[in-house]
Amino acid sequence: MRANSVNYTSLSLLLNIDGIPLFNSSSGEFYPILFSVPTAEELDGKVFPVGIYYGEKKPDSLSQFLKYFIEELNDVINNGYGSMDINLLGFCCDTPAKSYILGITSHVGFKSCTRCKIHGQTVERRRVFLEIDCPPRTHEDFINNVDTVYQPRSTPLVDIPSVDFVKSFTLDYMHLICLGVLRTLLFMWFKGPLPNKMSKNQRDLISDRLLVLRGHIPSDFVRKPRPIDVIKSWKATELRAFLLYLGPVVLKGVLSDTKYKNFLSLHCASTIILRSELCRNDDYLELSRKLFKYFINSVKTLYGEMYISHNFHNLIHIVDDVHHFRTRIPNFTVHSVSAFPFENFLQQLKKRVRGHNKPLQQIGRRLSEMFSQGHDIFGKHEKKREFSSQHNDGPLPAFCVSPQYSKLYHNKCEITVTAPNNCVKVKNGKVFVIENFAFSNELRKIVAIGRGL
Ligand SMILES: [Zn+2]
Repeated sequence: MRANSVNYTSLSLLLNIDGIPLFNSSSGEFYPILFSVPTAEELDGKVFPVGIYYGEKKPDSLSQFLKYFIEELNDVINNGYGSMDINLLGFCCDTPAKSYILGITSHVGFKSCTRCKIHGQTVERRRVFLEIDCPPRTHEDFINNVDTVYQPRSTPLVDIPSVDFVKSFTLDYMHLICLGVLRTLLFMWFKGPLPNKMSKNQRDLISDRLLVLRGHIPSDFVRKPRPIDVIKSWKATELRAFLLYLGPVVLKGVLSDTKYKNFLSLHCASTIILRSELCRNDDYLELSRKLFKYFINSVKTLYGEMYISHNFHNLIHIVDDVHHFRTRIPNFTVHSVSAFPFENFLQQLKKRVRGHNKPLQQIGRRLSEMFSQGHDIFGKHEKKREFSSQHNDGPLPAFCVSPQYSKLYHNKCEITVTAPNNCVKVKNGKVFVIENFAFSNELRKIVAIGRGL
């Protein structure tokens, strides 16, 4: 690791522990312990490994698995790392991993909510959680092991002093909303039994609309929309795009008004907790909480109580994460404490393992290569700003001259003079369609030329 550029005085860590199958054909699994630093803008999206376990199944002994990690973490929290203070923000894990490391009952247990004391019920052989306002769980109850049905096993994490055993474990919206609640709705509409399954004509109409929208999706999105006949292979980022941008457009007029309104309540509530300016506004957060509750209650009426699973129930708690983390993380949204960067890192790592021979050693070498290529917590993280694709085609206003460019790469964002990457919103809120980049004689620098909308 290089330590010669960005000077941090403190780092606040978000930890992730999860199991990923390594090969499709055998049972080998990684259990990595990873961290990100959501408080440092320069490290946005970056993930760093603390330790990696590999085996046929998850480690038999949780204490052995976490022993060295807990010792090291306590050491850096107590003594700092070099001149830096190290803090622990919390843990971001999916529900099975959370249950494993906390020693709590699994998500199908009657008393499995990490935030409240709801007692689940069985409806049509499914575990459901129907009540809305149950007493909250507390850190003190967890430490004192008050509820042994909820906590059948002990956890070595109690040896980390700064952990709050209710608030420090995030409700990750990637698993909870994108891969959980939204996927359930989509499967109900597109794959499930009648009466909720859409007709073939309705499904074809939605697929056609998604395909038309491909031409309007800017490069900020990793993937373009795909038709619904491949919905089983939609990734979390595609589900996220559907939730926040595409769903309200392609479902309009296809779903019944009541079901469309139900989807919009999920869309609006999620949009609020994914925009930093709205996460700072208590009125919007209260609106988001009400919309999530409305969504759950209307799902009961429209689709049935059997759908109010652990994931659906946890929607009523997710706004609490905003209140807890927004004072600890600048420009906070629930994305700041989500599994998206961890999942991305693990998939990149998994791709680099070739063959079944000594996978852990292969991972060690790949990580070493990644760090030597600049994946470095202490490396230099410059914001790139680069014009490219020079041309002489205009348009040029009176005060502008060549050189002209048709592409700007700025801070992970690509802006071009053609659709769909030519539409920008500037700081005063106005929206422009970019038509050229050229040198301004007046301002003595390259400027963007565009039409206001
Ligand atoms: Zn609950």
